Amino acid sequence: MKKKLLTLTIVAECILLPIAQAEDYPSKPITWIVPFAAGGPTDSLARMMADRISRELGQSIVIENTPGAGGTIGATRAARAKPDGYTMLVGHFGYMAAAPSLYANLRYDPVKNFNGVFRFPDTPMVLLVNGQSPYNSLQDFLSSARAEPGRLNVAHAGVGSASHLTAALFAQKAGIDIQGVPYRGGGQALTDVMGGQADAIFDQANTVMALVGSDKIRPLAQTSPTRSKQFPDLPTVAEAGIPGFEAQTWYGLYAPSGTPQSAIRRSFKAYQNALADPAFQESLFKQGLQSLPDQEYPGEALEKHTRSEIEKWNSVIRKAGIQPQS
Ligand code: ASP
Repeated sequence: MKKKLLTLTIVAECILLPIAQAEDYPSKPITWIVPFAAGGPTDSLARMMADRISRELGQSIVIENTPGAGGTIGATRAARAKPDGYTMLVGHFGYMAAAPSLYANLRYDPVKNFNGVFRFPDTPMVLLVNGQSPYNSLQDFLSSARAEPGRLNVAHAGVGSASHLTAALFAQKAGIDIQGVPYRGGGQALTDVMGGQADAIFDQANTVMALVGSDKIRPLAQTSPTRSKQFPDLPTVAEAGIPGFEAQTWYGLYAPSGTPQSAIRRSFKAYQNALADPAFQESLFKQGLQSLPDQEYPGEALEKHTRSEIEKWNSVIRKAGIQPQS
């Protein structure tokens, strides 16, 4: 009888423990690693998400900027963090999908070392030049690039960043030769484009939105396959001269592998609640973000997406002839 009681107690504890953990989480502040400098698109997107999700979780989310090497330094730090749900990575297609084909000695595996938590709404990219630039259209830009191969400078946030990969894909499809200028984040890269030190940048819609209409920048084209609702008058790159061109940035929240499912589920639930709020949807729209292809997003869907993007970028990078960095 005593043995039976003991067994029942153990069974009850096994059932109750994960529930208790789920209810306890989060019991202290959470860190989200952002692998680019403060003030860029990843940083501002992460801060906006963190602000809303932390209210759902009842705990603060601290943004830790760990820039360098196109996001791979921050991703390495996240892969090695304690998998307890209190350190997560804001990941994008560069360092979570393209990096394995771009870096010969990558110190993390985006599939093996991470669990997916949820995917953020997608963000299109926009080709921008300085407000005083001589280029008024994509055609102007292309003509100049063709007339003087290698002269135009395109700023980007490091090898494997979204801005770098989009520019590389663009140059490949347009058959032009442009010079990439690497920075530690999109914020500084954009500042230099506005200051005239670089000719152009493919930046993310969420940083562009705040500047549209100012005389500091001039958008030439958007990279999504069709015009986004936020930029109805701006031609797509495909419409403006490079048929079939398409590039979007996707983001996801990742946890180091081994993170308790209870923490992942709780974070995902907080995200779902935030997305259901019309005021939050409105602020996403104002930031240029596009709704998710699928609103039911448990972490496995993000992991599946990551795996298919790794294959896609592997073939893009090979075709573009981009050499892996050591
Ligand atoms: N995510 C941007 C890029 O890859 C950089 C940034 O967020 O600062 O180009």
